[in-house]
Amino acid sequence: AKCCSKAVVFSVPSYACQRRTTLDNHNTILTDALSLLAEKAELSEEDGRGVAFRRAAAVLKCLPQPVTNMMQLRGLPCLGEHSFRVIKDILENGTSSEVESTQQSERYKALKVLTGIFGVGAKTADRWIRAGIHNLRQLQTSGQTLNQAQRAGLQHYDDLNLPVTKAEADAIGEIVEEAVVSVLPDAQITLIGGFRRGKLTGHDVDLLITHPDEGKEVGLMPKVVSWLQSKGFLLYQKTTINSYLESEEGPRRPSSNMDRFERCFSIFKLRHLSREDRGESESGCRLWRAVRVDLVVSPISQFAFALLGWTGSKLFERELRRWAGHEKAMSLGSHALYDNRQSRYLRATSEEEIFAHLGLEYIPPSERNA
Ligand code: ATP
Ligand code: MN
Ligand code: MN
Repeated sequence: AKCCSKAVVFSVPSYACQRRTTLDNHNTILTDALSLLAEKAELSEEDGRGVAFRRAAAVLKCLPQPVTNMMQLRGLPCLGEHSFRVIKDILENGTSSEVESTQQSERYKALKVLTGIFGVGAKTADRWIRAGIHNLRQLQTSGQTLNQAQRAGLQHYDDLNLPVTKAEADAIGEIVEEAVVSVLPDAQITLIGGFRRGKLTGHDVDLLITHPDEGKEVGLMPKVVSWLQSKGFLLYQKTTINSYLESEEGPRRPSSNMDRFERCFSIFKLRHLSREDRGESESGCRLWRAVRVDLVVSPISQFAFALLGWTGSKLFERELRRWAGHEKAMSLGSHALYDNRQSRYLRATSEEEIFAHLGLEYIPPSERNA
C-alpha cells in the first residue's frame, strides 16, 4: 500500500480536444515508441490500429510527469492492451522488442524510404516493394513510371527530408506575402500547421490566405502561383480549385477530412538565409534548398474554420470532429460547423467561437500538440 499511495495517478479526459497538450512532452521515450507503431500501422494501411496508437501516444504526451510505474496508468483513457504491453516492455526493459524488430525489418525500412518521396503514399510504396524495389537506387533503375510529383520528390529527396526551420518558414511567408499582396493588395496571410502550434521545425510550411471582402479571394491562387513562377520560386506546384458549395442538407460527407479550398501543394526554391549562421563555408555548398509549401485560400466567412482545421495537430483535428459528431451531433469541417439537431450551420468568426459552439473549453494553438 505504501508504494501505491506514493505513485502519482493521472486523470485525463478522453478526447484530445478536451486536453492541453504543449510541446513539453515528459514521456518522449514512450510516445516515440507508440508513434512508431502508429506509423507502421498507417504504412500498412491499418488505419484503425494507427489511430489507436496515436490516441495512446497523445494521452501520454499531456501527462505532467514521466510515467515510471504501470500503476500510474490506471484509469487513463485510450490505452489498449497492445499499448499497455509496449509501455510495460519499455518500463521494465528500457526498450520495446516490437519497436526494435520493426526498426530492423526490411519492409519497414523500405516503406520509410519510399514514402519519404513526396507524392508516394503507402499503396504505391507497397506495390514497388512487391516489385522488389527497396531503395531509391533500385527505384531509379526499375523503369517504374513516376508521376510529376514523384519525379520532383525524388529529385529533391534530401532537401525535403531535412527539417524546415522557423526562420525558413518565416522567409517563405515573406515571399508568399509579397506575391499575394502584389496580385491582391489587402489580402492577408497566416502561418498555420505545426509552426502556428509553436513547433521549431516542420516537414513543410503551411500558409492560409484570405481577404476581408468576401469574394475578392476567388481565383487568387492561380495568380499567386504565376507570380511565384515568374520569379523562379517554384520547383513544383499542383493547384486545385475550390469546389465547396454549402448545401441546405448540410455537408455532403460530414466525416470527410478532405476540404475543397483553392489549394496549392508546392516545392519552393529558397535561397539559403545565411551560410555563416549555419556554420558552413563559402565554397562548395549550394545556394538554395527545396522546401515543401502548402498554400490554402479561404473566403473570410470560412476563415475561422479553415484556421482551426489547418492548424492541427492531425490527431487534435480528428478528435475535434469525433467530439462534434459523437457528443454534439454536429459536423465539423474546415469550411463550416453544421448542427444536425437544429438543421443549420453555426457561424463563427474566431476559433474561440467554434470551441464555444462545440461546448469545449478554448485550447490555444500551442496546446493542440496532441
Ligand atoms: P509538420 O510540422 O510535420 O508539417 P503539421 O502539423 O504542420 O506538421 P501537416 O501535414 O502540414 O502537419 O498538416 C497541417 C494541417 O493541415 C493538419 O491539421 C491537417 O489536418 C491539415 N491537412 C493536411 N493535409 C490536408 C488535406 N489534404 N485536407 C485537409 N486538411 C489537411
Ligand atoms: Mn505542416
Ligand atoms: Mn502541410
